[in-house]
Amino acid sequence: MKNFSLYLFALVLCVGLLPVVPRVLPVEGGGDAEVLHLLRTATGEVAEVPLEDYVIGVLTAADYACDGEALKAVAVCVRSSATYCETHRPTHRDAAACDDPTCCAPLTLERFDDAAVEAAAETRGQTLVYEGETVPATTFASGGKKTASANAVYGTDFPCLRGVENTIEADEPPTKIAKVAADDLPKLLGAPDDATADELFLAKDPSGRVAEVTFGLGGTWRLDGTDAADRLGLPSCFFDAETDGTWVTVRCDGEGDGVGLSRRGAQKLAEREKMYDEILQFYFPGAEIRQQTE
Ligand SMILES: [Zn+2]
Repeated sequence: MKNFSLYLFALVLCVGLLPVVPRVLPVEGGGDAEVLHLLRTATGEVAEVPLEDYVIGVLTAADYACDGEALKAVAVCVRSSATYCETHRPTHRDAAACDDPTCCAPLTLERFDDAAVEAAAETRGQTLVYEGETVPATTFASGGKKTASANAVYGTDFPCLRGVENTIEADEPPTKIAKVAADDLPKLLGAPDDATADELFLAKDPSGRVAEVTFGLGGTWRLDGTDAADRLGLPSCFFDAETDGTWVTVRCDGEGDGVGLSRRGAQKLAEREKMYDEILQFYFPGAEIRQQTE
């Protein structure tokens, strides 16, 4: 993780100025992938899967706790990410994705959920584009008060994945509150024996997520925020810690890495009667929906 101190100012400016105007750009044939190259990990073979089947298969297998307009927004994200991966092959050389859920998205092609079929059908052929480029539109389970930039989390700058004020989830309760004995905390984080909880320091990225944990040891030891969250059993690295000398109370918001669209946030926006294109505008301001024609 990296800390980009000026990023937040640009972010606030951008979010404040961009209009929430859905736009759909028609595209005449070609351009987008309609087949996804899928690595079957059991055999090592690369299968050609219809893109729409892949979208439905991911929505079915992942069971994203979204419905209606929110699930349609997620469907566009899955299709956009798949289309991006088909073109750029960021993870697998000969395939856009694989069927291993610990590597790529969960997937089933053996059964299709009705809601998934409907969400895919109602957004069929639609992908998200930003400045003409397909967006690798990632999603995560739930906020934080702000979403994270791809740059801060992945170290790769995607202009459309720059983080937004996640106001729709600002009042949600923490996803986890953990109490750890102050004496146990350094050991739990794998810190040296001379580390003490009262010197715990959390360096945060511009979204408020913990980028790095240190113990005031003069820079001799530091731990990545994601690794710290894993060691503490937290669902995200959007956390704070307070100590009274005996106990450290850790409060964590949201679940997932915070990049892209929050699925709980999308669901809450849908409950406020936002349409899927408005939900996409909320999380990917300035992006447009491109319609692939048959
Ligand atoms: Zn994979």
